[in-house]
Amino acid sequence: MTEFDSYSGKTIILTSQHHKEKAIALPMRAIGARLETYSDFDTDLLGTFSGEIERDGTAHEVAERKARIGMKALSCSLGIANEGSFGPHPYLPFGGGGLEIIAFVDDENGCVYFEEFFTADINYSQTVVSSFSRLREVAQLMGFPTHGLILAPAAAEHVVDRDTMMQDLGLVKGIITEEKLEETFSEFCTKSPVGCVWVETDMRAHFNPTRMRSIRKVATMLAKRLRSQCPQCKFPGFGLTSKEAGVKCANCGTATEVVGWYVSECHKCKCVKKIPKYDEHYRADPQYCPSCNP
Ligand SMILES: [Zn+2]
Ligand SMILES: [Zn+2]
Repeated sequence: MTEFDSYSGKTIILTSQHHKEKAIALPMRAIGARLETYSDFDTDLLGTFSGEIERDGTAHEVAERKARIGMKALSCSLGIANEGSFGPHPYLPFGGGGLEIIAFVDDENGCVYFEEFFTADINYSQTVVSSFSRLREVAQLMGFPTHGLILAPAAAEHVVDRDTMMQDLGLVKGIITEEKLEETFSEFCTKSPVGCVWVETDMRAHFNPTRMRSIRKVATMLAKRLRSQCPQCKFPGFGLTSKEAGVKCANCGTATEVVGWYVSECHKCKCVKKIPKYDEHYRADPQYCPSCNP
């Protein structure tokens, strides 16, 4: 095994219905692998952003499960899938932002690698409108028509939460033309008990170029990991596996919960490499100290 060619010449299956190969194929080609897309499956069954189907399990679990669907269907031992989360969201405790997770499953070597990329640069929002002129203004702010929109009848005029979206009365996704926008608006205005329409950004990758860029970013991070080898045994996929707390308190020297080290552990030989996050003189704020601020 020499550097850069661990996955060279291999075929990797991407399970995606939403054209994510546009973001992922190039980073995989950079490590010499060929990406083949498996799309003959309703990935929405694993959960949708618009809330019709709840995601079962963590984003990491879903990404791995999704990757295995294509691997199984095409009898391949290498697979990739991506899963995004957008705030406010149960996986995101801190409000607005997007988290892209990519799973790489290697059944030849019996390992699964994850990379994640968090960004505040997302195009994700929703609101309720009562007129088509207002919808046009909102649509423009939402990046329409390069970004697709989702419309549904609304249950209330000024309340923007998931209960306001009356998806059981109708839901249209992937709207990218003015005609479809107008036609859907008229239809849902009539269906809504308050004559209002719910509008939100479609977060599926092929309708959201902003998201596609984030997926490219996380795929590039994955490619970097797949190229990096264990310093001891040369096994591929060496990279961050956890973070370690324990930076000492500036006041009393007690170890705090502040993260001080990035830890990489080899999947094969289990050797560990720790990289300090700060220089050796760095001390934590006493507000994070279990002794000074219990
Ligand atoms: Zn202290
Ligand atoms: Zn190793």
